[in-house]
Amino acid sequence: MESGAFLDVIPIILNHLDLKSIVNLAQTSHFWQNQIYNNLKLWPKTIELPYIGCMDNYVGVHNTLETVIDIKLWSMIRPPDDPKALEKILTKMASSTASIRRFTFVETVNFKNFIHTDESLRLTALLFPSIRQISFEGNLLSIRGIQYIAMSCKKLKHIEFYQCNTIDIRNACRLFNTKEHQEYLDRLFIYHGFWSKYLIKLPSKDDLSFMALCQRCGLYFNELKNDKEMLCLYHPGTYTGFNHSSSAFSCCSSNTPRYSSTLGCQYTYHNKYSNESSTNQKHYYELHDGHPEYMFQKYTDVKFVLRCSERRRLDKCYRKWNKNQ
Ligand SMILES: [Zn+2]
Ligand SMILES: [Zn+2]
Repeated sequence: MESGAFLDVIPIILNHLDLKSIVNLAQTSHFWQNQIYNNLKLWPKTIELPYIGCMDNYVGVHNTLETVIDIKLWSMIRPPDDPKALEKILTKMASSTASIRRFTFVETVNFKNFIHTDESLRLTALLFPSIRQISFEGNLLSIRGIQYIAMSCKKLKHIEFYQCNTIDIRNACRLFNTKEHQEYLDRLFIYHGFWSKYLIKLPSKDDLSFMALCQRCGLYFNELKNDKEMLCLYHPGTYTGFNHSSSAFSCCSSNTPRYSSTLGCQYTYHNKYSNESSTNQKHYYELHDGHPEYMFQKYTDVKFVLRCSERRRLDKCYRKWNKNQ
């Protein structure tokens, strides 16, 4: 059985099987179990965490929770009642060395409606060192949690800071100001609530030397990569109307008020802001008020299912969590 020629074809055979067949095969003998569990490249590159319910049913007055779950718009759904829900799941996943190794090559983790704590970030850094994107959302995390990710996940392309009101974004950005992150990082999205727009201290060259703010899309982009790939989404057309049902961009008829929007319908190169202190943050607030599941895709590739949608606000969650403390 374990002769050289046979071992050579094993990876080829395994590559033709789907995950279910691989798991079934692993259960047939110790030989196959070893072959399969030690071949980490066989495991899926994408992991979906289980959905374990949310704090309440509210997803806006126009939609039901069932519909929103059905179309997988997780950024609309409030997190579970238990603020430690995510760290509990990840603790189980990290319960043995074998299971920690198993996720080494995972590139995408769908965290669904969970939000991170420092402990869940520590476990994410341990379990999934190859992830390409991470969302730091809300006030349950601190700079310590972000540090775990910056130290371990060196292949991050996309980073989001969404309504992180308890951390200094500039300090957080400095953690990613390394040669390794410079190679992969290509998008940094920072979003604060409209009312806190005067309080934000945006990162500068001193914090993240290779990233710059784009005056067109309002995202931070990697200056070293900008001439190689067009990653800036924009609308070449003009916008007519103003918060009126027939308002739209002339290029693609997107951005009808209350429909989820994306940043644009065409790609070009990012355009560096010449004077970052004069940024029009109100403009970006409107531009960036979409869902991460859609926002960064080209408008023409996207079909929106819901009318009237809003990304979850966590204020109510904090009130409840603080009361239970
Ligand atoms: Zn357009
Ligand atoms: Zn841009």
